[in-house]
Amino acid sequence: MIDLRSDTVTRPSEAMREVIAQAPVGDDVYGDDPTVNALQERVAALFGKEAGLFTPTGSLSNQLAIRSLVKPGEELLTETQSHIVRAELGAGAVFSGITTRTWPSRNGILKASEPLEIASPNAGPYLVSTTAIALENTHNFGGGTVQSMHEIAELRRESLKLGLTMHLDGARIWNAHVATGTSFAEFGSHFDTVSVCFSKGLGAPVGSMMLSTSDRIAEARRWRKRYGAGMRQIGILAAAVDYAFTHNIERLAEDHHRAKVIATACAQVSPTLVDPELTHTNIVAIDVTGCSRTAGELVAELAEVGILAGAMGSKLLRLVTHMDFDDQQLDRVLELLPDLLKRSLVA
Ligand SMILES: *Cc1c(COP(=O)(O)O)cnc(C)c1O
Repeated sequence: MIDLRSDTVTRPSEAMREVIAQAPVGDDVYGDDPTVNALQERVAALFGKEAGLFTPTGSLSNQLAIRSLVKPGEELLTETQSHIVRAELGAGAVFSGITTRTWPSRNGILKASEPLEIASPNAGPYLVSTTAIALENTHNFGGGTVQSMHEIAELRRESLKLGLTMHLDGARIWNAHVATGTSFAEFGSHFDTVSVCFSKGLGAPVGSMMLSTSDRIAEARRWRKRYGAGMRQIGILAAAVDYAFTHNIERLAEDHHRAKVIATACAQVSPTLVDPELTHTNIVAIDVTGCSRTAGELVAELAEVGILAGAMGSKLLRLVTHMDFDDQQLDRVLELLPDLLKRSLVA
């Protein structure tokens, strides 16, 4: 099987397992695990933040950050297709008592004016007050699109004037970094809180991190425990992440290249399916609106010929390239996928 459902399907390599086996560990609930402590410092420093907190999932690091920025009954603004509102099962409402309002955008791509138009800070005793804005980079359901630093900087400038804070869901910030060359410190400088995922594309088995000020991280550590995610000898996870950090970031360029090749081949079948110009990173988002089959039906047909893909709703077929997907498998996808799409297009 060629598994392109997600970049989370990668397995730890032999070398990574070796590093896991050797990792010095301690009890992290006591703050005693040297390997996770070193990783938290390493990643925080990279992003220009005071501190970091290792979490089992990106959903949790997003939620700890949102909780830190938005009080119960206040409002977070985010894009309509963002992971925070679509794929975290209402966690912000359930756990933090916050409300969300969304602005729509094409392919998840930010225009600073769009959140600013709906922002409603200090709204008084009648309307909900906006207190934070969350951005996603790269944008998952937008097709791995990379946000413009110009728009981010503009939004930061204007939202500071309004007294709003900003959160970055940077689950795939590695891909944005490799695609643009923008430093992690530059990304970090525009946000009060950042969430990153190590389980996306880097080959590590588990892990995410919230990054922010020491005060916010100390508070998030209490909430992480309260949510039941205080962990013990997590140096074995942190060691894998440290290894991935050193070895597996720059190689993401290969994943981007393979995704572009797939998108280009599909666009040759019909430009309505995908715009290769918008395949910025490792996600190929194929719009099957013009096909006689739903995304789910196409996923089933692809599985029959040995390719696993994802259906994001009935109209979007998603393929995600990653480090366990090589050129030989790419050739196989190029043999099968464009042909299948051609046959399912409505004349
Ligand atoms: C994967 C992902 C997350 C976190 O997912 P978990 O499965 O909770 O680790 C958050 N945001 C985006 C954009 C993602 O793609």
